[in-house]
Amino acid sequence: MKEAYLYSSLNGQVQCHLCGRRCIIPNSGVGFCGVRKNIDGKLYSLVYGKAVAAAADPIMKKPLYHFHPGSSVMSIATVGCNFRCKYCDNWVISQDREVKGMDLPPSKVVQLALEYDCQGVSYTYTEPTIFMEYAYDTAKLAREKGLFNTFVTNGYMTPEAVEFVSPFLDAATVDFKGSANPEFYKTMAAVPDVEPIYECLKALKSRNIHVEVTDLIVTKYGDSIDDVKALTSWIRDNLGPDTVFHILRFHPDYKLTDVPSTPLNTLEKAYEAARDVGLHYVYLGNVPGHRYEHTYCPNCGERIIERFGFYISRWLLTKDKRCPSCGWSIPIKGVYHPGDLEYHMPVI
Ligand code: SF4
Repeated sequence: MKEAYLYSSLNGQVQCHLCGRRCIIPNSGVGFCGVRKNIDGKLYSLVYGKAVAAAADPIMKKPLYHFHPGSSVMSIATVGCNFRCKYCDNWVISQDREVKGMDLPPSKVVQLALEYDCQGVSYTYTEPTIFMEYAYDTAKLAREKGLFNTFVTNGYMTPEAVEFVSPFLDAATVDFKGSANPEFYKTMAAVPDVEPIYECLKALKSRNIHVEVTDLIVTKYGDSIDDVKALTSWIRDNLGPDTVFHILRFHPDYKLTDVPSTPLNTLEKAYEAARDVGLHYVYLGNVPGHRYEHTYCPNCGERIIERFGFYISRWLLTKDKRCPSCGWSIPIKGVYHPGDLEYHMPVI
């Protein structure tokens, strides 16, 4: 347990300022995420140093395609979440309200990252915003050891939270669901308002944090191509046409086990819509082997990075990250880490 970093108190109640819900929590109560508790007028994180998952992952699993490609990241999570997605594929840990996990203090996370030859640490699987104290302290130590830090987030962080973590945060994958359709968010994730996500994205961008955006296309409930067009237009206008956009295939899970996986032609239509809007780097995810996993030069159309699932199978860029055919500069942060990226599961 650790006292929270971003909250205010008044007459025994506390208000958490980490995510857009801005919960007001009475004494002995917990916030919507279930892991932040008011104890006698002070807010505490109940999950500090309690990792419910830890694994060395390829960075493309996050997904981050234009950030230290080929690297691996020590990935950690705690229980809890500020969303209630009915299709969550990590629901066993995200929706668990029993505080549990192995004792894994920040120094041990960093030690594991180095032992497993990771180049960074990723705060992922559940929502890192809700375990900010743990993530922040780990990120600070990781940076001291030359590691980078990435969040995989639903984007509901407040601007204050972004500002707070930004000195140590290098990259973020911001996950939209159902192409940001407000009704979808209300009925499928219990999220009253999508506006905080746009604010979070602008705040991340203004702090020069590398951002990639994903959009989970959910069969029948969140698969409108008009919504894809609206979301990608916003990204183009506010974050720029070079912003990497991943269209993710839904698969049945948790409370949506009777809904089939997103049909391939729906995903391909969404891909084409995003490219037509003017985004240069659009990818399909959760469809290993598909031609839209690769990077194509936006200038000449040449296939310049080939992928399969979470791995790079062919890297054709020049040393200064240009298209080998026409010389177009491809926006990729960090260096390419070639080599064997076999999946490792640390034994703790
Ligand atoms: S992080 Fe948790 S306690 Fe804080 S505002 Fe969000 S849901 Fe509420």
